[in-house]
Amino acid sequence: AKEQGRNTYQFYTEGMQEREVKRLELDKDLNHALANDEFVLYFQPQLDLNDSSINSVEALIRWQHPRRGLLPPVDFIPLAEESGRITDIGRWVVMAACRQLAKWQNGPYANLRIAVNLSGRELDDESIVEHIQEALEANGVSADRLEVELTEEIFIQNIEHNLNQLTKLHKLGVHLAIDDFGVGYSSLGYLRDFPVDLLKIDRSFITEVTRRHDDAVITRAVINLAHNLGIQVVAEGVETPEQLNFLKNHRCDLIQGYLISRPIPAAELEKALSAGLLN
Ligand code: C2E
Ligand code: CA
Ligand code: CA
Ligand code: CA
Repeated sequence: AKEQGRNTYQFYTEGMQEREVKRLELDKDLNHALANDEFVLYFQPQLDLNDSSINSVEALIRWQHPRRGLLPPVDFIPLAEESGRITDIGRWVVMAACRQLAKWQNGPYANLRIAVNLSGRELDDESIVEHIQEALEANGVSADRLEVELTEEIFIQNIEHNLNQLTKLHKLGVHLAIDDFGVGYSSLGYLRDFPVDLLKIDRSFITEVTRRHDDAVITRAVINLAHNLGIQVVAEGVETPEQLNFLKNHRCDLIQGYLISRPIPAAELEKALSAGLLN
């Protein structure tokens, strides 16, 4: 038994070392990717249910890896969070979003807003607000074209710092959205204390909203709660016409999901918008 224990331990450390090597390699690659401009933003439109217009898109990062192809965020964002590399990636995302807004602002897509995802770790960075302001100014973009999506984690850690950061952002005119609403921590006090413009109901409530009574009840309650606080509601992960109808009937403001479009590159989005394919 002793022998076996040792072997197990040996095996375990080898696994750990291998993982560590992989992590170091990936971090080196990430640094290289920033220098070589290997990241791209894909955009997923949000459909306004009141008038079937599209006025906002969420920016979702992809990594065009030279050997491994197009990588989704799950393959590199968690590691970037751990290593701290996320700070630089986030700055790149904000700059790329502002550059895109500048391209759109004088043409047929001038109405579009871009929502970017910011993690708690990124908000910790003291200079992120300044960086956002500079990116907007450098590109001649008005702050109300930009939206920031934050998950509920920011309301349980570093609350004072985060409130301060978000108040500054909101004063600039940037819209604030709560992402993945309902799956995090259930304190609702922050809806009172933070300047929230939008609430995004997590996909896990939407998937079976037309089949499960409890999901329907929760979704309706969240919509009513938000509206009574003057907050708009986006439903995430809408995939079927039945879900769309339910959400429309219960006065959800916006929907996002594969039913409207998957996240796509800017050029594809422009084509789909001008062909009227998204609404
Ligand atoms: P998220 O912010 O909750 O983004 C929504 C995710 O759901 C996206 O995955 C999107 O492609 C996917 N999705 C959208 N509609 C549907 C649908 O109808 N059905 C299903 N099954 N999925 C749908 P993606 O692009 O892989 O992004 C995953 C997560 O990575 C994001 O979740 C976000 O937390 C993170 N992420 C993406 N871009 C960034 C970024 O620039 N910065 C940071 N910090 N995180 C990012
Ligand atoms: Ca998001
Ligand atoms: Ca989400
Ligand atoms: Ca999510």
